[in-house]
Amino acid sequence: MDRLHLDYRIVKADTGIMGGLLSEEFQAITPLGEDILVLCDSCEFSSNIEVAACVPQKPAEAETELEMELVETPDSRTIEEVVETLNKPVNKFVKTLIYNVDGKAVAVMVRGDREVNETKLRKLFNATEVELADVTMVKEATGAEIGFAGPVGIHCTLVADEEVTYMQNFVVGANKTGYHYTNVNQKDFKIDIVADVRNIMEGDTCPCCGGKIEFKHGIEVGNTFKLGTKYSKAMGLQYLDSNNQLQDVWMGSYGIGPARAMAALCEQNVDENGINWPKEIAPYQVAIVIISMKDEQQVLKANEIYEALKAKGIDVILDDRDERPGVKFKDMELIGIPFRITVGKGIKDGNVEWKARTNDKEDVSIEEIVEKALDALK
Ligand SMILES: [Zn+2]
Repeated sequence: MDRLHLDYRIVKADTGIMGGLLSEEFQAITPLGEDILVLCDSCEFSSNIEVAACVPQKPAEAETELEMELVETPDSRTIEEVVETLNKPVNKFVKTLIYNVDGKAVAVMVRGDREVNETKLRKLFNATEVELADVTMVKEATGAEIGFAGPVGIHCTLVADEEVTYMQNFVVGANKTGYHYTNVNQKDFKIDIVADVRNIMEGDTCPCCGGKIEFKHGIEVGNTFKLGTKYSKAMGLQYLDSNNQLQDVWMGSYGIGPARAMAALCEQNVDENGINWPKEIAPYQVAIVIISMKDEQQVLKANEIYEALKAKGIDVILDDRDERPGVKFKDMELIGIPFRITVGKGIKDGNVEWKARTNDKEDVSIEEIVEKALDALK
């Protein structure tokens, strides 16, 4: 990735169906990326959102715990609607979502402005399938329509995000269609499991250093998996060690997506003239453009330089099309050749023009041009 000159981050990732001990993704930073990368503004912390650990936000000071109160909220099902009806800040609400975890109902509580992280939930239960429960399952667990679930008197396993355990006098669904409870506290219900089951958010506290979390988008251009002995054990892949003992083979998996890496490089290196490929992977390293194809001397010199560069192992293209110089310059920039040698009238004085894509042109003597190219490509 360094040699490709990609702007990338190595982020911790879910091992997914591949399994194993640890997975890391190589993510190229670009606003067009489909993955959300969780980064810290103060340290090197980086993670895929699926596995980013959360630090609970604790209230500044403790409140006096009030008595729970049943309130009518007839048309309020979504958190936005309940917030509006009851006119309290969203962080005084707790959402309770009913999940179908391998066929069993599980209620998950997170603060009103948080989202449940289904990957963390799946890991918590070591489950295969995690999805939001359907109407029937919700009714069985809560006794109410969707939108009124809450922890008080619920008939299924109750998971609370760690942050919820620091909250006081909050609002929850009442497990009764058209009603919520206000001023709810932990004494009013029984949590089965407390765990980190939410998505980290921008502005949250970094789990490593206490800095601020920020998000960037990325394209996954590579990944690594520490597989341990998961597959070798399953398939009986062993070797004899120096003591003649059979041992399981330790495995790793390392992948690069060449097409994705190309796409990410284009995104990161495009300028107004086309693709600015890093010289290591440009289709050609040097282009030689002949100004006038009618000038035999120009054609001859250009061909000599072309052969000389090739002899030094430089990847070079000779543009000897019968086109106007402007067209040739544009085309070479468009396809992203990093260096250009222009052979024109200057050869009378023994000079050609050298131009790096991102620098101004300069005159270089024909004798020195091969050295110049070799230097630039070092
Ligand atoms: Zn940090």
